[in-house]
Amino acid sequence: MPLTNTQHDAIMRIYDGLRAQNQHIQEQRYNEVLSLAPEYAEIENKIISVSLNAAKERINGSSGEYREILEDLNRQKAAVLASIDKPSDYLEPVYTCPVCHDTGYVSNKKCACFQKKAIDLVYHDSNLKNITENENFDTFSYDWYDDTTPDASNGLTPYHNMQRIVSICHSFVDAFDRENANILFFGGTGTGKTFLSNCIAKALLDSSHSVIYLTAIELFSAFQRQDFSRFGEDRDFDANYLLDCDLLIIDDLGTEVGNTYTNSKLFYVINERMLRKKSTIISTNLSLSDIRDIYSERIFSRITSSYTILKLFGNDIRMMKRTGQKPKPHSAADENKASTKFNRNH
Ligand SMILES: [Zn+2]
Repeated sequence: MPLTNTQHDAIMRIYDGLRAQNQHIQEQRYNEVLSLAPEYAEIENKIISVSLNAAKERINGSSGEYREILEDLNRQKAAVLASIDKPSDYLEPVYTCPVCHDTGYVSNKKCACFQKKAIDLVYHDSNLKNITENENFDTFSYDWYDDTTPDASNGLTPYHNMQRIVSICHSFVDAFDRENANILFFGGTGTGKTFLSNCIAKALLDSSHSVIYLTAIELFSAFQRQDFSRFGEDRDFDANYLLDCDLLIIDDLGTEVGNTYTNSKLFYVINERMLRKKSTIISTNLSLSDIRDIYSERIFSRITSSYTILKLFGNDIRMMKRTGQKPKPHSAADENKASTKFNRNH
């Protein structure tokens, strides 16, 4: 797999650091216990000498009954810890990842925590982290959305439509680990599709999920580099990350130059992620009938059957910002924060 050696080494150094840090915590705890309850060391010494005697006797062929003595001593250790208000496992080894014990590998396979670190390294630095600083539920404003003209499609004004959609996005985040849900945002340019994807990305990154954001053009050219490069692989790209990350965001679907190759890759990604129970968000300017016409019937049916389909409409906010127009504050000020609880109960 295509992590470069330098990237792999960088991740292994993170694990070295974690292990050193956790060992330090363990030593600190041990010293703390000894200072609060010095008798703990005596019990440990007894356990060592009893264990040694037991081993000697086994070698000499006799079999004393040591098991009960050792069990009793271990109970004494737990009692000492309890007497100073510490849990019985207080002095056990400390691991940030209990699965791989901070080695990154479980029986020669990369642990899930390694994959997450790799995604952080390869994608976050370049893409998402900076964007989500500015585009998140706290910075989202309803003031850009008009509250006077209802849309023919559902009778809602852009403002009320957005309140409904933001509430669905919050539910998507809240139920993320249980539901493996997917979202398709569609609607005109500048109506907030990418912004909302970033809001969700930020909320999930903050709860330690792995998120990859790619435009459709980036997604397909990554596959092309891998499939058609002279060496058969692109060292900076691993399709497994796209298929395995907790959330994949494909932005601006329809802006790529489409052909049978992009069609088959899109189906592969959508379908494979559904099989792996991983969530995907797609945003596009295309209408649903465009999607059916441009992509295959099987892609269309996967999307319509397994994605929450959300139509955004309203003014082109990007254009409004570019031309110096100001948002119009709505009357109920506390309704206008996407992060407030109020809207989540609509
Ligand atoms: Zn791990």
